[in-house]
Parts: sequence; structure tokens; C-alpha cells
Amino acid sequence: MISVFGSANMDLVAYVSTAPRRGETVTGRAFRAVPGGKGANQAIAVARAGAGAAFLGAVGADEFGPVLREALAGAGVDVTRLRTVPGPSGIAHIVVDGDGGNSIIVIPGANGTVTGPDAADLAAIRRSDALLLQLELPMDAVVAAATQAEVPVVLTPAPARELPGELLAAVGLLIPNEHEAAALTGLADPQESLAALLDLVPEVVITLGAAGAIYGSRSGERARVPAPPVRAVDTTAAGDTFAGALAVARAEGRPHRDALRFATAAAALSVQREGAGPSMPARAEIEATLA
Ligand code: ADP
Repeated sequence: MISVFGSANMDLVAYVSTAPRRGETVTGRAFRAVPGGKGANQAIAVARAGAGAAFLGAVGADEFGPVLREALAGAGVDVTRLRTVPGPSGIAHIVVDGDGGNSIIVIPGANGTVTGPDAADLAAIRRSDALLLQLELPMDAVVAAATQAEVPVVLTPAPARELPGELLAAVGLLIPNEHEAAALTGLADPQESLAALLDLVPEVVITLGAAGAIYGSRSGERARVPAPPVRAVDTTAAGDTFAGALAVARAEGRPHRDALRFATAAAALSVQREGAGPSMPARAEIEATLA
């Protein structure tokens, strides 16, 4: 079982040819409301990749709360520790333009009310093979979870922000994408970033989009795994799919290179489909592409 302590957002996505400038009104092509949030996405990715998943976090008492809860429960994620709090759910207001570029406003809502795990949350976390964290909850809550987890902690440092030393000291595996790695280290080259990040945490995976991922550990292991060549239609939640699948493969004790291959296979399947949760591949599909 893998626990995810993180965010759940309703993604409100407007598709336009050209994003409006200030004062301008444009007519869009389409609109979709889809459950998302990095935490919820990772929990669904874990469940679909074939492991038990528990999500710890909060949704609001608005019309989106039950939708977010059902998206998790429907994917087989344990939502026993998901709270419903007064006020709105977290929202990501996303504008996707004709080139596939996007601009995003995140309003934390219920996510912003989450504090550190309580005794029951900690009991659930400590029964897990690993705890997955991201940075869409208040930093104090993330630090409290990481430092009290007593199980391996995996952090996706997104959205990029400065990481307190206390948090880094509790993280076993850090999974930045190349932009986050560069933001954390000030180094543009992923290999150099990897080396610098290994001064901070024992193991690092840097995801490189269509170029796959690289792995390094303090004990000197290195691995590089290319992404399967696919036609990407929507890379939303590719990183979350990768992180969830990687955690599952590691919990099963797979060697590093095999775990990376499993995660890149899962993420490659997800980028070939639209949306976040619904785009995440089931274990049989991942295994089929690896066969
Ligand atoms: P994020 O989604 O967090 O920005 P990346 O863009 O690095 O992170 O993508 C995460 C992973 O998803 C990559 O390591 C890769 O395995 C997979 N991926 C992303 N884009 C593609 C693509 N165009 N083709 C195949 N795999 C991809």
C-alpha cells in the first residue's frame, strides 16, 4: 500500500486559439471540468498501476468536493482519510491555447486548510510501503508529514519552490522534472543537477519529458531510460503518472532500471490520451508495452 498526502483540485480547462489579453474577451473552442491536483493524480496513478493507494487530503463542501472524492474512490483509492472541510474545493483554472501551451491559476481552497497529519493519518501512513508528497499543500503540512512518516518518503517538488532543509532531510527519493531540477540547483544540465541534488537527498530521478528519465543514487548507481516514442496528445499529469508508477515498481522491489522502465511505459501511455485521471494506464496495459 502506498499513501499519498497531497492536493485534490478540480481542473477547469478552457481551450482557445489565442489566450485573451487583459480587457479582451475571446470565444473558446471547448471547456472541460476534470478532477486533478498532483496528489489525487498520483494516488490514482498508483491504484491503476496495481498497488493499494490511500489518499490523505481535503476537499471542500462545494459541488466539486463529491466529484473529487468519487474520482478517487472510483479508481479504487482508499479515501478513508480524505476530509471534507467548509468552503470551496481546490481549483486549477487552466487556459490551453492553440499551440498546446497553457497558463494556470491554482486557488488552493480546501488544500490550503490542510495541516500536518493527525494520529489516524500517521497510523495509515506508517502502514504504507512509501509516502508520496508534492508541493500543492501548505509547506508546514508537507514537512510535518515527511518528518513523521517513518516510511520511505518520495517527493515530487512541484510546483517548484524552495525546499526547507528539514524536508530534504526526510526525503529518500526526489523526482523533479528538468525545469524543477534546474530551479532547485541553478544548473541547466540535468546530469549536473542530478549530482548536485544527490548532495541533498539519497536518490534522485529527473524526468526529461520525451527524452525519458535519469536516476542516480548517493551510492554511485546511475541509470538512464529513454521514453518510448509515442505521439503525445496531452502531457497533463505525465509526471504524476510517472511518480505513481515508479513508487509501485519500487515497492515491489524491482531493480532501478526496471522500475524506471515501468514508470516511463506508464507515463508514455498517459500522454497518448487526454485528461489526467482517465488517461492513466492500468497495470495490464503497462505490462503489455513492456513485454
Ligand atoms: P512533468 O509532466 O512533471 O512536466 P515530464 O515532462 O518530464 O514531467 O514528463 C514526465 C515523464 O512522462 C517523462 O519522464 C516521460 O517518461 C513521460 N513523457 C512526457 N512527455 C512524453 C512524451 N512526449 N513522450 C513519451 N513520454 C513522455
